[in-house]
Amino acid sequence: MRKLSKKLVYFFAPGKAQGNAAMKDLLGGKGANLAEMAALGLPVPPGFTITTEVCTGYYKHRGRYPKELKAQVERDLGRVEQVMGRKFGDPHDPLLLSVRSGARSSMPGMMETVLNIGLTTKAIPGLIAKTGNPRFVYDAYRRLIMMYSDVVMEKAAGIEPAEGRGIRLQLERLMARMKEARGVSKDTDLTAEDLQVLCDEFRARVQEVLGKPFPDDPVDQLWGGIGAIFQSWMGRRAVAYRRIEKIPDDWGTAVNVQVMVFGNMGDNSGTGVGFTRDPATGANVFYGEWLPNAQGEDVVAGIRTPLHVNEAGKTEHNRHLPSLQTAMPQVYRQLNALQKKLERHYRDMLDIEFTIEEGRRWMLQCRVGKRNGVAAVKMAVDMAESRLITRQEAVRRVRPDALIQVLLPMVDPQAERNARPLAKGLPAGPGGAHGMIVFTADEAARRGKELKERVILVRNETSPEDVHGMHAAQAILTARGGMTSHAALVARGWGKCCIVGCAALDIDMDHRRLCVDGRALREGDWITLNGTAGLVYEGRLPLVSPDLEHNQEYRRLMRWVDSLRKMGVRANADTPQDARQAVAFGAEGIGLFRTEHMFYGEGSAEPLFLLRKMIASATEAQRRKALDELFPFMKSDIRATLQVMGGRPVTIRLLDPPLHEFVPHEPARLKELADSLGVSVDDLERRVSALRESNPMMGHRGVRLGITYPEVSEYQVRAILEAAAELIKEGKRVMPEIMIPVTCTAGELEHQLQICRRVHEDVCRRLGLKRVPYLFGTMIEIPRAALTAGKMAQTSEFFSFGTNDMTQMGFGFSRDDMGAFLPAYLKTGILPDDPFQTIDQEGVGELVRFGIERGRAVRKDLKVGICGEHGGDPESVKFCYRVGMDYVSCSPFRVPVARLAAAHAALEAKARGKQPEGD
Ligand code: PEP
Ligand code: MG
Repeated sequence: MRKLSKKLVYFFAPGKAQGNAAMKDLLGGKGANLAEMAALGLPVPPGFTITTEVCTGYYKHRGRYPKELKAQVERDLGRVEQVMGRKFGDPHDPLLLSVRSGARSSMPGMMETVLNIGLTTKAIPGLIAKTGNPRFVYDAYRRLIMMYSDVVMEKAAGIEPAEGRGIRLQLERLMARMKEARGVSKDTDLTAEDLQVLCDEFRARVQEVLGKPFPDDPVDQLWGGIGAIFQSWMGRRAVAYRRIEKIPDDWGTAVNVQVMVFGNMGDNSGTGVGFTRDPATGANVFYGEWLPNAQGEDVVAGIRTPLHVNEAGKTEHNRHLPSLQTAMPQVYRQLNALQKKLERHYRDMLDIEFTIEEGRRWMLQCRVGKRNGVAAVKMAVDMAESRLITRQEAVRRVRPDALIQVLLPMVDPQAERNARPLAKGLPAGPGGAHGMIVFTADEAARRGKELKERVILVRNETSPEDVHGMHAAQAILTARGGMTSHAALVARGWGKCCIVGCAALDIDMDHRRLCVDGRALREGDWITLNGTAGLVYEGRLPLVSPDLEHNQEYRRLMRWVDSLRKMGVRANADTPQDARQAVAFGAEGIGLFRTEHMFYGEGSAEPLFLLRKMIASATEAQRRKALDELFPFMKSDIRATLQVMGGRPVTIRLLDPPLHEFVPHEPARLKELADSLGVSVDDLERRVSALRESNPMMGHRGVRLGITYPEVSEYQVRAILEAAAELIKEGKRVMPEIMIPVTCTAGELEHQLQICRRVHEDVCRRLGLKRVPYLFGTMIEIPRAALTAGKMAQTSEFFSFGTNDMTQMGFGFSRDDMGAFLPAYLKTGILPDDPFQTIDQEGVGELVRFGIERGRAVRKDLKVGICGEHGGDPESVKFCYRVGMDYVSCSPFRVPVARLAAAHAALEAKARGKQPEGD
């Protein structure tokens, strides 16, 4: 039997399509959605999609296509010709094509596009006769030469011209010279004759620079375009973007070949982009921008400030300009109906591209639109309330990390009221940011990423070449461009504060200077952006946390989240203030109270001195004396936090100080300490140097301190239980959990448990209570502890996985020294993620899973949580749910993120179990 050839090309035209929106992996996002729109009967220019598998094969077989491809392309081109009633390459009535990339997930502007393919010297007279518009035809030809020579003949051929010598720039200079010679400023002022001369000059320049003629055969042009799109998948920009967005190289791009429609055929034509809802605020209004008499990328390129599609969405910048709604009311009405239909069909906010060719509208693209976290929450809740989606779907729609944007800092309103804005632009990315001005992406990357400075990237406009700097900057500010310009799209995707189209900025790149409102600012000067209002301020205005109390959509969503999740979320907090913040963010307890916190920062001088005294003590008597003095500090810190938490569990970890960090070295401090201990400085120095360790991370820390000096544990347990007892006597509810750190054997726990029992008995007796409720448990942060978890659980009522140390000891990567080598592991892809941020499921994760299994085998009701940094990382939170933890604990600010991730984990588990998902 003859083997069927693989389908490599999918055809689409209004009312018929071989693909659909679910086929993104094969057809790319653009191709799958073109097929879906076509199937819905929307006005989509006919065309076909070459699959991503062809791209993957192209790289596997060193630039060769499968042999069936040619025939399949010819077959579908024939179908397109049939639908259009015109032929590709027909000199009398040529059919022109566009060739565009389209990966599984959108990579805005990172790959290439070639328009007007099929226009040749032979076809020019025919097209002029057909359109009666020679200016349009020569303009289309000059665009083809510019794009094709740049994308196909230079970039795809691997030619890397010297700075400023690229073919596109050279052709742009020829055009600028022509405008100068004709005394005109706009491209549209050049006449047909001017453009005809220019096209001749372009072709001559292409021959001269690239050493070959501009192709004049439509089929050669088409295959050149297709190859160039595949090549652009491995282009520098695309690769850099994929690294940031973690898009695998082997996904490949599809190629979409489609009939050209023209937005530049005169004043009854135009092109635009829109969103079915406002992507910055989430408001339920059609939001879009367009340019009359323009083609293709003109709107997205951000070179002209575009007009708004409707009156409602006008800004101060385009208020005086006509909207599409007033300029072409009928077209607007049709477009509005189409966008509504599409949103209902997809049940999500979409980003659409359209072209109006002589009063007729065409849909060129639709995809689920990028949105910031604030808008994501509002849209999800609004859509659920209007029953477009279920509540569960609404919860699923918000990415846990995007929630951070709802919690974003903003410019302090009090300070802002008193400041006068320097300039106003379009609010492309919400939130507030301050930073030092930098003018280039490289400088932003150097200072922002390497030097860890707060910088704001200020540009006329950004291009895909700038992404590394945009990523490293706190915020982005551009002089040109609209809400759909490159800067706006990229910043929105990352949830970064961004202002675009700030026309008052006059950027002088030669002198690295910015003039605005009569002020000259230089690189390194501070500015502040309010990305929600589009306002730019001079200087460094303070930033404040947002008001979640009054954010109704956020509160509603989080209620749904909490009703869906099954795993608890606690916070790591060591002060009453942090504890209050944690409760406000929805924490159900404290999963890690690090007692050593009281020795850092404000108010720490006295307890730190006493801790040093304790560390440097030579005898138990001396140590007890120091501990006696330290005791009130320990107790009051714990008591205040227990009180704030009002009966919620608080896991208090006994001291885990890296001793070397606390011993003094300055002579004055040594003298003070020596005097208080009644020893000579020499003596004290001897003691201090005896504490020095070659490997402090594996040294005298954690429970080891409590084994060598049991009185250290005893005083702490007493502080905890006395604080709790006092609160109980005042009628308050408390739930302390005593946690022993850095344990590796059951013997250590047995030893510490005896201390706890003794102290508990004593406290109860002295304070006249029958018992003080508390749990006794351990951190599991050493691999041996996980492997012997069954024994550890005999004394432990709870485990809290310390995955920071567990990662350190599981990998053998020092937490203090990994900066020297970990970046290389990530860059080469040896490790997919930083294991200190996202839990390494197959290694460290296995230790966690094993530890839980063994522990619960011995103690069925063993309570299990995590308190390493991973507790706030969405992927790790999902893992914690899968291995059966009772709760995760993370920094207060990440508590909402963890709550949402826990709800996602529960929904994913439900979907895997194929259980019904009623609301
Ligand atoms: C841990 O090791 O994961 C942990 C929470 O403890 P620390 O970071 O204080 O060592
Ligand atoms: Mg630890």
